[in-house]
Amino acid sequence: MIRFENVTKKYDNDSVAVDHLNLNIEDGEFFVFIGPSGCGKTTTLKMINRLIPLSTGTIYIDEKRISDYDIHELRYDIGYVLQQIALFPHMTIAENIAIVPELKKWDKQKIYDRTTELLEMVGLDPALYRDRLPKELSGGEQQRVGVVRALAADPSIILMDEPFSALDPISRQKLQQDISELQKKIKKTIVFVTHDMQEALALGDRICLMQDGKIVQCDTPENILKNPETDFVRNFLESGNLLPKTLFDHSITISELLNRNFFTPTTAGNASEASRHLKTTDPLEELVTALANAKSVTIEDETGMSIATIKTKDLLAFLSSNLKEGVHS
Ligand code: ADP
Ligand code: MG
Repeated sequence: MIRFENVTKKYDNDSVAVDHLNLNIEDGEFFVFIGPSGCGKTTTLKMINRLIPLSTGTIYIDEKRISDYDIHELRYDIGYVLQQIALFPHMTIAENIAIVPELKKWDKQKIYDRTTELLEMVGLDPALYRDRLPKELSGGEQQRVGVVRALAADPSIILMDEPFSALDPISRQKLQQDISELQKKIKKTIVFVTHDMQEALALGDRICLMQDGKIVQCDTPENILKNPETDFVRNFLESGNLLPKTLFDHSITISELLNRNFFTPTTAGNASEASRHLKTTDPLEELVTALANAKSVTIEDETGMSIATIKTKDLLAFLSSNLKEGVHS
């Protein structure tokens, strides 16, 4: 368990970045900090692994003060994923993943087996990816490596600071699914920072909403949605990114795209190319998932007849038109 006891951080200029934080994060919990820029999320995260010293108060990990841990022991046992993809450009993918295991002086075979296992865990074929350089991977693939690198030496806690915010919506959605599935399997404690409410709602066991260095509300996604405690929480929910909101609103179905002409007419040729088939009444979310894995999706009417093809570019055009118009639902 990670326990914050009256934790305050003042930077040199005396502004209070984090203000008397009291909080428990349970073992195996997916815990999300969310709030507007400057509210103290990154400061809170970096205090956990002592990248930033506290001003007053105490943080305990498993009831031992973080100041009582050996700094290397602490850092090795806490994985850390940054927003910007931070792989070392001149090291191969396998070497990047092996940094902490090397520091811990694991033997060669153990490191080899671990990098193989981790690459497989996030769907990157070790035979193809192990010896590549970061620049030979897409942004989404690089960030996937960033995530498993944080897991390499089997830490019990993983800190993630807006890890997916630099990615396109499709890669982000895919990585959100990956991390969510991964956490169900490995049951680590994940402390995750985002400013994206949809992401928080999709991932968090609990969500802690911060404002001006203080906790405004800390609860399960369901309770936050049902009972936003203050106007600030309500406004934050409402101002939540329109794009993901559209994606996760189950009342929006694929027919919405068809009605508004965001599709590619089906011809005999392109219908058979598409690997997935969905119905006009399926939720938009299904389409997004399908397009993360296929170039196009064939849409059928209730009778099972193919009536249109939707490609990624059609979906993006639809979403971007929603953003411009500010369409909520
Ligand atoms: P968030 O991650 O939520 O955007 P931060 O934790 O980065 O917020 O910052 C919280 C507050 O602390 C902000 O007002 C920010 O300007 C201030 N701050 C962050 N880092 C420093 C620093 N190194 N020196 C002085 N002030 C800082
Ligand atoms: Mg930040």
